[in-house]
Amino acid sequence: MYQDVNPRSILTRAHAPEVAVLMRHFEMLASGPAGAQHEALQALAIQAAGDDIMFMSPTPTGDYRYETCGRTLPRTTGRDRTGGYVSNLQSDVAEFTIRCYDRALAEGLATYTVHRTVRTARVGIFERLILPTTDAEGGRHLIVFCRQMSFREEFLMLLMETSPFGIVAVEAVRDEDARLTGLGVLSANQRVAALCGTDPDMLFSSDVREILPFLANEETWARLRYAVELLRPDQFEVEFLAAGRQIWLQVSLALLGDGLVITLSDISALMRANQSLEQRAATLALEVGIERATRRALSEEIGQREEREKELRRLAETDPLTALLNRRSFTERANAAIQSSSSDASAICLLIIDLDHFKQINDTHGHPAGDAAIRAFADLLLGVFRTESCLIGRFGGEEFAILIRGAAGDALEKASLMQAALAERALPVSETLELAVTASCGIACRREGETLAALTNRADQALYRAKKEGRNRIALADEQPLANAA
Ligand code: GH3
Ligand code: MG
Ligand code: MG
Repeated sequence: MYQDVNPRSILTRAHAPEVAVLMRHFEMLASGPAGAQHEALQALAIQAAGDDIMFMSPTPTGDYRYETCGRTLPRTTGRDRTGGYVSNLQSDVAEFTIRCYDRALAEGLATYTVHRTVRTARVGIFERLILPTTDAEGGRHLIVFCRQMSFREEFLMLLMETSPFGIVAVEAVRDEDARLTGLGVLSANQRVAALCGTDPDMLFSSDVREILPFLANEETWARLRYAVELLRPDQFEVEFLAAGRQIWLQVSLALLGDGLVITLSDISALMRANQSLEQRAATLALEVGIERATRRALSEEIGQREEREKELRRLAETDPLTALLNRRSFTERANAAIQSSSSDASAICLLIIDLDHFKQINDTHGHPAGDAAIRAFADLLLGVFRTESCLIGRFGGEEFAILIRGAAGDALEKASLMQAALAERALPVSETLELAVTASCGIACRREGETLAALTNRADQALYRAKKEGRNRIALADEQPLANAA
């Protein structure tokens, strides 16, 4: 609800065209606090807007009586108030009306007001032009033009009241030097009260900061002031507690005359959803981090286990004394080599080598010296036979087996090299002891379709022959001894 006594602003604010006509008549007849001459203005007012004119008289009790009431108002409100009193109106409207009437009478000035009535879901907005008069006998009266504002305003009001947004229209309040001192509330919808926890009766307090306290802080108030003074629309968010609940509002400032339309949009649900999304994202990032670390640890663990398994496999395959293939893995690999040589028809020979009179070494120098001699002989074998086409294994004791991809001539050549190396140099057994040893060797060249077992058997027989024929020699299976390296 607002009121205006400045004739210029009355003319700019008024909606009904009759207001301008009535103002002209009033200004022509008015003189000082007495206002206009009653009878003269009465005639002109009836002529200009008879159906919307009410004649009011003050009562000794501070009330106002409806002397006559135009025809329009009873038609639109369904009640003829002639003979009734202003105090019977809706209490807030009555209070406002009496205040405006008193002032108009006291000052003798035309007063323009707009007020709102709310009757069960129907909103009525009325504009009034209050003209104080004095009759020939000195009696005081008011000639009041009152009309419900057109549908357009009512529709806008309805829109305001059904809007999901809080809407407040404010106008600048300025001091004598035109400095902005406040923003007076022109209108506010009920949604504002719901959004901000404001008492609905407070909505029409004088300054917007009283109904929306969150606009009162220095920073926010500065934004409102800049919007009005620099004609700059603005938008920002505010956050406050209402009845123990955190509320977030988006505040939009649009320009309206020398004031603003402030629109409040509740974004609390959005902010809460956003917060819980952010929390969820943080939790997810944490979970992803944990999962990554777990996966890394797992893959490290798998890597280590693979390494261990490889090591175990290597240990299972090798002879611990010499690090050569043990009998089982030598047999496995020799079988595989035989199979692949069958498919490409390449020659394969098996050598079985046994150290001569080894028992004597143990007996003379002790078992550890015997071990050292076995290890040194294994190294010698590696030196002579280590090529990709050879498998070298320890068959047990001081007996070794070597599988060569090649013909009898190649096997013989290598075996001779081995014996020459033995003859050339004693085996280092300790820092102070070297032992001259000899070895006997049986060689068998694989026949087509022959199994490893049969091949081994024939190489064994050749070795047996080499031993029998004096040791330190090489015997080819199924043949006479070939050579004596000594
Ligand atoms: P021959 O010339 O007929 O081969 O005579 P030999 O003494 O070498 O006879 P034989 O092969 O029967 O004896 C092998 C000996 O080797 C028996 C055992 O004491 C010894 N021996 C077997 N395995 C090992 C071992 O791992 N370490 C040591 N130090 N001696 C072993
Ligand atoms: Mg022996
Ligand atoms: Mg032996």
